[in-house]
Amino acid sequence: MAARELIALRPAPRGRDVPASAEALLRDLGGPAMLVVEGRDPSRTRGIVTLLHGNEPSGTHALLELLRSEVVPATRVVALLASVDAALAPPTFSHRMLPGRRDLNRCFREPFDGADGAIAHEALRLLREAGCEALVDLHNNTGRNPAYGVATDVDAARLGLVALFAHLYVITDLSLGSLIEATSGDFPTVTIECGRAGDSAADAAALAGLHRYVELDAIETRRPPDARIEVLCDPVRVCVRPGLRLAFGAVPMPGADLTLVSDIDRHNFQPVMPGAPVGWLGTHGTWPIEARGASGDDVSEDLFVVRDGRLETRRGIVPIMMTTDANVALADCLFYVVQPREEIGRG
Ligand SMILES: [Zn+2]
Repeated sequence: MAARELIALRPAPRGRDVPASAEALLRDLGGPAMLVVEGRDPSRTRGIVTLLHGNEPSGTHALLELLRSEVVPATRVVALLASVDAALAPPTFSHRMLPGRRDLNRCFREPFDGADGAIAHEALRLLREAGCEALVDLHNNTGRNPAYGVATDVDAARLGLVALFAHLYVITDLSLGSLIEATSGDFPTVTIECGRAGDSAADAAALAGLHRYVELDAIETRRPPDARIEVLCDPVRVCVRPGLRLAFGAVPMPGADLTLVSDIDRHNFQPVMPGAPVGWLGTHGTWPIEARGASGDDVSEDLFVVRDGRLETRRGIVPIMMTTDANVALADCLFYVVQPREEIGRG
């Protein structure tokens, strides 16, 4: 099936015209779409992006509730629902992207190749043309994570946006081709990871934050938020080396080049001591992972060590976004390691 082009600036349904379910809304759209919600001040616009990944439904659920409510946003709002076709592929909200397609949140840079590059390019054009004063991009994780924000830099505007949703803030300097990298020079942009896909707590965090975002009279650009925010930085992306077989389990799994401890995601955002078990190598004993920060150098052997066939932390780390889904881990990464930076705010 050919990829659908992005439907530009379609008036969003409101109140009783809103479809009964997220799935019905997505079926109505039929493909990627940017909806417009009118607000009290038509001269200003705020942006919302969600569903860059089809298996991350919290933003869509929150948007649906917002449209159904009687809330009139402070400004005009444009809302991009991106990977609608991936989200609708059965079972609903289970595909990050469709087979043969690219990870859409890696497509927001030149050369904008293929169907997904074209969608990313058109989305950027529309968001810039709308003159957004801020942009919030809503995601979920597949592992157990609290809600947290991600941005390319830290300033009052971005701290304020993250504080609407969460009290954890990750500054990323990684070059992945993500939306926040593309638009951070245009307007304050943050990604919100709302929590694990399918958790009602994640949906609630998305909805509460989205309400605050659209109802805010002005985006604060000078004063940091009152809430206390913990800032983490310098993410290192930990991936399985190409071609290796990955499994999750409580014991080493036969045939796997790396078996990760199955409840590893309980460590997300927690300091992990040196010598903590991460998993087991396969019978060949091949070094199983790569870990790269902004420099691009592989620092996996600085962070981890093998003892008696067991992969352990070599030094204290703070892992985030650990997944226990082997497909996600192979398509994206196992987790990120971050450094504590500071706490900001008067909370
Ligand atoms: Zn995502």
